[in-house]
Parts: sequence; structure tokens; C-alpha cells
Amino acid sequence: TKWVYTFGDGTAEGEAGMRNLLGGKGANLAEMSNLGLPVPPGFTITTEVCTYYYDHERSYPGDLAAQVEEALAHVGRLTGKTFGDARNPLLVSVRSGARASMPGMMDTVLNLGLNDVTVAAVAAAAGDARFAWDSYRRFITMYSDVVLGVEHHHFEEALEDYKARKGYDLDTDLLAEDWQVLVARYKEIVAKELGKPFPQDPKEQLWGAIGAVFGSWMNNRAIKYRELHAIPASWGTAVNVQAMVFGNRGETSATGVAFTRNPSTGEKELYGEFLINAQGEDVVAGIRTPQDITEKARLASGSDKPSMEQAMPTAYAELVRIYELLERHYRDMQDLEFTVEEGKLWMLQTRSGKRTAKAALKIAVDLASEGLISREEAITRIDPLALDQLLHPTIDPKAERRVIASGLPASPGAACGEIVFSSEDAEEAKKAGRKVILVRVETSPEDIHGMHAAEGILTTRGGMTSHAAVVARGMGKPCVSGAGSVRVDYRNGVMLAAGQTFSKGDVVTIDGSTGQVLAGEVKMLEPELSGEFATLMSWADGVRRMKVRANAETPLDAKTARNFGAEGIGLCRTEHMFFDGDRIVAVREMILADDEAGRRAALAKLLPMQRADFVELFTIMQGLPVTIRLLDPPLHEFLPHTDAEIAEVAASLKVDEDKLRRRASELSEFNPMLGFRGCRLAVRYPEIAEMQARAIFEAAVEAGRRTGEPVAVEVMVPLVMTRAELDLVKGRIDAMAAAVKAETGVAVPYQVGTMIELPRAALRAGEIAETAAFFSFGTNDLTQTTLGISRDDAASFLGTYTAGGILPADPFVTLDQEGVGELVKLAAERGRAARSDLKLGICGEHGGDPDSIRFCEGAGLDYVSCSPYRVPIARLAAAQAAL
Ligand code: ADP
Ligand code: MG
Ligand code: MG
Repeated sequence: TKWVYTFGDGTAEGEAGMRNLLGGKGANLAEMSNLGLPVPPGFTITTEVCTYYYDHERSYPGDLAAQVEEALAHVGRLTGKTFGDARNPLLVSVRSGARASMPGMMDTVLNLGLNDVTVAAVAAAAGDARFAWDSYRRFITMYSDVVLGVEHHHFEEALEDYKARKGYDLDTDLLAEDWQVLVARYKEIVAKELGKPFPQDPKEQLWGAIGAVFGSWMNNRAIKYRELHAIPASWGTAVNVQAMVFGNRGETSATGVAFTRNPSTGEKELYGEFLINAQGEDVVAGIRTPQDITEKARLASGSDKPSMEQAMPTAYAELVRIYELLERHYRDMQDLEFTVEEGKLWMLQTRSGKRTAKAALKIAVDLASEGLISREEAITRIDPLALDQLLHPTIDPKAERRVIASGLPASPGAACGEIVFSSEDAEEAKKAGRKVILVRVETSPEDIHGMHAAEGILTTRGGMTSHAAVVARGMGKPCVSGAGSVRVDYRNGVMLAAGQTFSKGDVVTIDGSTGQVLAGEVKMLEPELSGEFATLMSWADGVRRMKVRANAETPLDAKTARNFGAEGIGLCRTEHMFFDGDRIVAVREMILADDEAGRRAALAKLLPMQRADFVELFTIMQGLPVTIRLLDPPLHEFLPHTDAEIAEVAASLKVDEDKLRRRASELSEFNPMLGFRGCRLAVRYPEIAEMQARAIFEAAVEAGRRTGEPVAVEVMVPLVMTRAELDLVKGRIDAMAAAVKAETGVAVPYQVGTMIELPRAALRAGEIAETAAFFSFGTNDLTQTTLGISRDDAASFLGTYTAGGILPADPFVTLDQEGVGELVKLAAERGRAARSDLKLGICGEHGGDPDSIRFCEGAGLDYVSCSPYRVPIARLAAAQAAL
């Protein structure tokens, strides 16, 4: 088997398409080599070796060592150096690289191959001893930290100590002799911590680093990350070994990262940061404040340090040439890592860049306009769920801003919450239902859970490419990074800003779009849905087949839904209209009345309220279809519980309290989910359905008068299990429609249909469709009744099922396509066979879930209905499903 693939010098054994085998980093290094770009030569050990390693008690294939030797020799030939050679040593970096970029993996080790002998050769060859010893001390620090497990702080303390003693301020003040002294000190630290010396043999160093990369695939951080991002453990990571180029060779050398477009706004501009005389992760780590790449960015930031464009015009021009080439080649925004060694630019990484939803939209629309991708491709480029970020509030520009600090606008959107200083506190507060802003000096992969729990993130150190910034953008959380004027005191749980002390629990607002940190809670604005958002959505609407409706009952929800482009209401839950104010008393009267006359009296009170609600809803929807579901309460939700509630209803009904209490307990159920609910109510007490039908038809007449448009009413009967139930209830509805027509002289166009939410109804869909004009799959209940799992009681065990792979996903979030989905398909088929124009929709939570929407497209449904904020997500997901 071929385990090792080389790249460099204008060719490579791999290419971008071999991501599964070479990992993302390795595949793209190969691709860049093939494109003739300046990539330091190297080789990739495949992900198959990782798989082998874990299948064989952490050992390697027998022929791996020989292939690595040969690849090393090849790299040596290309660089004119020899790995481990005392006179002309090849130094390498060892880099992990999974298929998907994974921050939980081992950190990169640079300058590997240095030891007490080779360091002198490097110094001699470069004519620069300081550079050689600086590289060596970096190597010992990194290698000890990530491979040997000797923590960073040991070295940091030794360095600080040394600087203090010598009166040095910056690392750059140290001379060759200083680093030499420190290297000796570092080696002592390692020997003391490990009980054995720092490895001097370059081969041992190399295999140690390779082993550490494979080992890190199963470390807790990586496992946790894979869990969060649904990455299978079976994928494995690759290892990249690459000849070093040096950004730390003085003023003509540098290291940097750049995006080919602005990752926050999507603006078409080279965007990034670099550091002169620095190596690798110095930029990301926020040790020194990085400099701007373009002169335009420098002018905008007002920095007094030169831009790369100014300081290194030749390397800058080369970077511009390459970034434009890479964008055209990959036809997407790229995230680049590069190093300049003595004026020459080297490319170290390219990948499709992470971006905010706002940027993703702009980039997709722009790339389509530039002709690099088609409109269809632009539609598929956007993750529907990421649109969520755009639908959230920003700070009202008119609101008073008490700015207490400013940092970088690292991830847009505004958020407000209590300050917490640790991820643990963030999680705890979230569990208690409180909103928090996580405030840290900087974040690390250990903080991912706290970042998830927080509304927003504020750091006092680090740039636009710091960990906090990158991760927050990925999560769609507002983030302000590098707010340097804020002093965080973890020990006392306070932060100092603008001369004030803020304690844990104090409320602040962060504006991730401007970088401002504000005291207290600030007024926010609903998002603007124009520009690229509107453009892309219109493209999506152009290719989508399924309609998108909203589940809504309040005027606010209905208006929101229309703003977001809903094409009707797919589910109006009338019981939700019954909880308000004094209505609940009338509802309780109706439920607890012990005869028809009592019920009718209570219903008479409800009729005008219900009618008024419907008039408003129909008016807002202006002729778009509205599906109104007849009452479907789990009755117990309405029963009076407290003595005060009982007294209130008793007084209203003019009955004895004890009698009422007895009646209430008669009605209480052991298993309300399978109890007296849905159409069973209308079957037992037809006057309830009659009142609702009257309210609907009278409201339709009234709203039609107001808007001048006929109202398209769909009356939906819930929880039907047999056709006979539906026949009976439909009979009452039809009679009421006729009565209202006779009274008003207006014929309201309407349809009667049913929800399919019981397996029996799905099976008998053929005969039910003879009565029903439409089906709406109520997949929340259909999931409960098919799986026999109560959604409200599933929390205690469902996690075990999804984590253990017994269920692929939470069936209440993503439709169980094999089980529930089969019932949906079968009901759709049987229903359509009986009635060819049967309208089919879905109105469960799944109507807003992209995977489930894809399924609905396949099953041939006519529409999906979801909560108002999900409407744009569903529109895009439906378009993607149709492509
Ligand atoms: P990560 O996945 O965390 O970005 P990388 O493997 O990309 O880790 O390495 C991080 C940084 O280390 C790179 O951006 C680059 O600056 C530096 N680096 C890696 N390999 C080399 C090399 N061969 N020569 C010079 N710098 C390197
Ligand atoms: Mg890293
Ligand atoms: Mg990288």
C-alpha cells in the first residue's frame, strides 16, 4: 500500500480531490504544488495510516518507515539538504490535517530536526546565530508542549524570569547568546519534568511528532469537537511533514494569514494580518499585535505600523497574484497561510474560508455575478441553518451607547447578558435560563462549551483570526475580540473598563459588528432583509417547488412570517388563542360544564373573541391560504389547578367549588397525550367544533369585506384515526358553512382536511382522503405515536440513543425517515391514489429542519410549514432539495 504522498517543486502525487485520503491540508498543499505555486516541499502520511494505527493497537504498517525515509530523501533532494545531517540539516514542520479542519487536534511543531549539533550548522548557513537559537528554543517549547506533555508555562516562566533579570522588554530584544542560555535552561526543565533528556535524535523527534498527531485524534478535545460537528471517528487524520521556511529571519521575513474576501462582510478585498520577523502561530496567538496586509486596511485601522503592501511590496504583489489565482481555481473565498523568508513568499495552506452568514451570502451572490459559479451553485453554497444569524437583532443606531471599551468586530450581531468569566459559569447560567456574555483574556478549545452557552464573547487579547473570533464566527455568535483596554481579573471575578469595575453578573452589551462594548442593556433592532439576502432568496424561490408556510396564531407571528416570505399559514393552533387573559376562564367553563347548555353558554362567550382573532389573521394574510386547526388541547393543560383558579371558574359557572373540583379530577388523565384530545373532543361535544367553524366562516366573510380578497380557508381536523370521525366532524363544519352563507349571503371558499398524526390514519389514508381535501402531516405527534416516545419525557434517555448511534439523530429534530418517513410516504401514496388533487403538507417541527425538508421534497409534499423565524431557512432548504 502507498502510505505516503509527496508534493513540492511544481508537482505532487496527490491533488485537491484526494481530501479523504490526504486530509484537507495535505490535499490542498498538493493542489497548490500542482498549480506551480511556491509551496515548501513535503509529504503527507495518509488517513489510512491513522485507521491502521487504531486497528492495530497503535502501531504502524510495516512498510511505512521505508516510505517515510524515501519521501524525506526526496524532500532533501528538492531542498538540497539532508534530514539529520550535521552540516546541512533539513528542518521540517509536522502538521496534523483531518478531512475537516479540526481545532481539537495536535498543534503544529515547527523547526523539527534541530538539536545541539544542527543548530550550529543552521547558524552558520544562515550567517545568523540569533535566528538559529531562536528557532531552537521555539522548537523545544512546541515539541515539549505538544509531544512530550511538558506544559508551556514552564518555559514562559523561565523566559519572563530571564527577561526581568536582564532588563529586556520584548522577545526581540534577546540576542543569540541569550537564547542559547535559555535553550540550556529549557532542556533542564524538560529533563527535570520527564526524568529524561530532550530527544536529540532527529528521527526520534520526527516519529515522536507523527505519533503525537495520530494520538491526538483520540484526545478529549478532538473527540468533543467531532461530537459537536458530527464528524465520524473513522475518518482519521493525516500527517503532513514539510520543509521549513522561516519567517523569523529578520526584517525581510514574516508570517501571515489572509482571507481572499472579508470574512465578516464578504467585501471583495484581501483581508488579513501579518507579523514581521515571526513564526507560525505568533499571529494567531495574539502575542504581538499583528499588522495590516493592505495599505487600505492600514489607513482604515489607523495603525502606525506599516502594512505588508508598504513593507514588502514584492512579496505583497506575489500574494495578490496568488490569491486571485487561487480564488479563480477553487471558485470560492480562500483562507490562506503564508510565510515570507528573506523577501520570498511561500504558501503554507489554503482552504475554503470560514465566514459569517452575511459574508457567505454576499460572497455567493458576488461569485455568481462575477460568473465564477452559477446561481444554482450559489444557492447550494449557503447553509440554510446559518441564515439564522441574519435574522437576529442588531443595536438600534438611535439607542444611547455607553461605550466602555472597543475591540475588533470579530463576529457580527449584538448580544446582551450578564458577565461571566469562565466557561463553566456560562454553562451553569445557561442551564438556569440566564443570558451571559463570556469574558476571557483569550479563548482556547477548552472554552467551546462555554462559547456555545453564551450569547456573545468578549476577549481582551487576540486579533480577527484569534481562536475566539474564528470559533464565534463559525457558531454565528457575536464576538468582540482584542478589547485591550479591558482588564480582566479572574481571581476576583471582576473586569475593569473605562475606569469602572464590572462584576460577574453585571449586564453588558457587545456589538460584534463595530467592536464596541457597552454598559447595560441596549435597545436592539430587527434585521434588514434586503440586499444579498433578498437576491439569494429570490433565486431560491425561483427553483423551489414546495411552498413554505408558517405555523402562526398571533398577529405578530403572522406578520413576522409574511416578512420572512411565508406563503400562507400551515398551522394555526386555536388552543393557543385560548390562554390569554379572561379567555382561559371561559375555556375552563366550557370544559367543566356538565351539560350541553352550560357548554353552549361558555362557547357563546368565546365565539366573538375567536372570530376577532381570525379576522385579524385573515386580514394580515391577505388571501393567502390559512389552515386553522380545530381545538386540540391536551385537556389537562386547561384544567384549573389552584384553589383560586377553581374558585374563579366556580363563581363564573355559578356552581359549588367542591363539585367543580370533583369534575376537574374526573377529567384529569393518566396519559393526556393519548387521552381526550384532538377530534375526540369534537366527536363527543360537536358544539365546540360548531362554534369554531362559525367563528372561522364569519371571520372569513368579514375579512373578505375588509381586504376585498376572498379568504382561502382550510379547516383542519386533528388527531383523526378513522374516516368515520372525519365524516362526522366534517358534516358539522359543512352545515355551519351553509348556515353562515344563508345568514350573510356570502359563500366562503373552504376545504376540510385532516392532520395525519396517528399510524392508523397513515395506514388508512386511502379512505380518509375520500373525505379530506388535504393532509397535513403532524410529525411531532406522528413521531411520538410511531416511536412510542413521549417528547416531553424523552430527555432522560434520548441522549444515550443518539450518542450511542442507536438513533442517528433526535427524531423530534430531524424526521426519522426510515420509520415515520415510511408512514408519510405510504399515506401520501394511498391518499393521492384516492384523490389525485389531495394537497399534502407537513406542520411538525420538522417543517423547518433542512434534512427533513429534503425528505419532504422526495416524498412529493406540496408545502412545509414551520415557525416564522424558520421560514427563510425552509425556503432555502426547499430550493436546495429541488436542485
Ligand atoms: P493549524 O492547522 O493550526 O493552522 P498549521 O499546520 O497550518 O496548523 O500550522 C500553523 C502555522 O505554522 C502555519 O500557518 C505556518 O505559519 C506555520 N508553519 C507550518 N508549517 C510550516 C513550514 N513548513 N514552514 C514555515 N512555517 C510553517
Ligand atoms: Mg493550531
Ligand atoms: Mg493552518
